[in-house]
Amino acid sequence: MKKDFIFSEITKLKGVGPQLSKYLKKKKIEKIKDIILNLPYSDTDRSKISKINELEIGKIQTIKVIVKKLSFPRIRNLPNKVLCEDETGKIDIVYFNSREGYIKKVYPMNKWIVISGKVSYFNKKYQITNPDYVTNLDNQDYVVKNIPKYNLTKGINEKKYRSISEQVITNIPNIDDWLEEKFIEKNNLLNWNKSLYNLHNLKKAQSNLSKSYRRLVFDELCANFFTLLKNRHRIKKNKLPKYFSRTKSNIIIDNLPFQLTDSQKIVINEINKDLSSNKRMFRIVQGDVGSGKTIVSLLSISNVIESGYQCAFMGPTEILARQHYELAKKIFSKFDIKIDFISGKTEMKDRKEILRNLENGKTDLLIGTHALFQKKINFKKLGFVLIDEQHKFGVRQRSDLAKKGGNNCDVLLMSATPIPRTMMMSLYGDMDISKITDKPANRKKITTLSKPEKKISELWSFIKKQIDNENQIFWVCPLIEESSILNYSSAKKKFDLINKKFPNNVGLIHGSLDKIDKEKVLNKFLNKEISILVSTTVIEVGIDFPNANLIVIENANKFGLSQLHQLRGRVGRGEKPATCILLFKEGLSKNAIKRIKILKNSDDGFYIAEEDLKLRGFGDITGYQQSGMKNFRFADPVIHEDLFKLAENYVQKNHLDINQNKFSFLLKLFDKAEVINFKND
Ligand code: ADP
Ligand code: MG
Repeated sequence: MKKDFIFSEITKLKGVGPQLSKYLKKKKIEKIKDIILNLPYSDTDRSKISKINELEIGKIQTIKVIVKKLSFPRIRNLPNKVLCEDETGKIDIVYFNSREGYIKKVYPMNKWIVISGKVSYFNKKYQITNPDYVTNLDNQDYVVKNIPKYNLTKGINEKKYRSISEQVITNIPNIDDWLEEKFIEKNNLLNWNKSLYNLHNLKKAQSNLSKSYRRLVFDELCANFFTLLKNRHRIKKNKLPKYFSRTKSNIIIDNLPFQLTDSQKIVINEINKDLSSNKRMFRIVQGDVGSGKTIVSLLSISNVIESGYQCAFMGPTEILARQHYELAKKIFSKFDIKIDFISGKTEMKDRKEILRNLENGKTDLLIGTHALFQKKINFKKLGFVLIDEQHKFGVRQRSDLAKKGGNNCDVLLMSATPIPRTMMMSLYGDMDISKITDKPANRKKITTLSKPEKKISELWSFIKKQIDNENQIFWVCPLIEESSILNYSSAKKKFDLINKKFPNNVGLIHGSLDKIDKEKVLNKFLNKEISILVSTTVIEVGIDFPNANLIVIENANKFGLSQLHQLRGRVGRGEKPATCILLFKEGLSKNAIKRIKILKNSDDGFYIAEEDLKLRGFGDITGYQQSGMKNFRFADPVIHEDLFKLAENYVQKNHLDINQNKFSFLLKLFDKAEVINFKND
């Protein structure tokens, strides 16, 4: 097979028409190379030949048997049957809707054959109904190979998939390895061709610790890191430095009702240094929930405005953006700074005026939602783009964003999702990183308690006391992943129950509410019209509810530690002490007890994220999905930690060669070529 052939569309293969390619596409198999990356797994292990007397019912297994008797009943609806045996017992092979001729052909009397399929038990006898494979001994190797993962996907059965994949797997092109032999050996990897051969052809599926698998992991990481580094160079170009005296920001700081924390000061300095340098800023500020990122944002904004540029400040939701807008108006009230707000809801005529003022430079600061970045919005002199709580920005989007602002635009992201160290480079390798590590001194520690759900009734008096003291309460219902209907009904039930105890004082937010209705309920809570907010979905990140000081989390074991910590961070932002109650279904597992202990003893989101990763493993952390961390197909930051470091080093040493031919195969293989070669850089 020619090297470049594997980058063609899947339809180039024999037997792949439009219908099948549609199904394959659903499984992210679009190009021929995707078949190479679609590794077999060992769950369906047909490789072991079992004896009849040791078969396990319900499992897919392979047997080697001798054909003893064929029966073709002439009565309608009765299946054709083949009786087979080995030295340990007998088995019926049962066929519905089959042709006699076919059966006679594949089941020659008194010959040994190999059969593979799901084993059942009927009339005191083992049986296999419509087996997946039947073959004579000469061909048994074909059956006992390990089997591609996609055997159960709708529209593609194992046999079909195999007929396609065989065309590729047996023909994987020989490439000149981009890694040197010495490097490969030293780091316990394997050369590319051998790895791919092993991964697809060895009888036993290769574990994720095997040299072959590790090689693929290393490649995947390199492709990813190369891309990030390229993006970094793309963005961190020369710009005009910004000049400011910090007069305004110092006045703002003097008038704050609190002292900035040391971390806040450090981060503000890092940002100011970037602003006044001649390289564009491309920085992310990481700070735990409630660590005070908003004020850091606003202080940087004031410096940029002072230096004569406009700023754009985006929040992920209408409510949060509006909260920022209100705060900005308050904080900048002493100065002659014009601030506007825009969202999808902004009326047409207001919009026109807002856009006009932006274009003629009257507006200094535009705050809003995604609407901020619509095509028609033009700034006169945009110098700073700031994005709050945005985890879903891919590399490409980040790059586009920086481009939109023009050459003199600095970019700053804020994130409250603490990320384990191994993941930082793979996610934000193209950015500089600032961390707010300490919390405001006045923050009360949140008391974390756990309770079995059976004792839920013990909560009512506690809640009543909170309400009497004019506190507010979050009640988080378990998220049922499979079904939004079930989700709704369980949340609704809980709402009804709580509403009975505290009539007209409860609001409900669930997944099927639309944005507007959701915001209505949130606003009611924000304005203290209701005391309790029941929700299924995770409550909006970032919104400041200073009055909420109790959060109840049901089925707490369904959440990752980091998620629990984030949820817990919804409360305890005000002056009053706060409580987080974790409800559990039944007896706690050892693991659950460990997890609660970690939460009780620490309120450091970064530490908790690391522990979470260790306890649950990468594959299991749903909270990270949204952050794009699950982009990896093969790499796992827990299992392959050493390779993360190795790839990071390798890429740093070799990134100047990224455009060399030898890397183009690698980049194409992992769909990075397009990102690397953006037009008009
Ligand atoms: P986050 O980092 O989660 O975005 P916010 O910026 O919303 O946190 O800040 C949470 C609350 O803490 C706000 O009410 C804010 O006014 C307050 N705050 C910020 N910095 C400090 C500080 N240094 N000391 C005391 N309170 C602070
Ligand atoms: Mg925030």
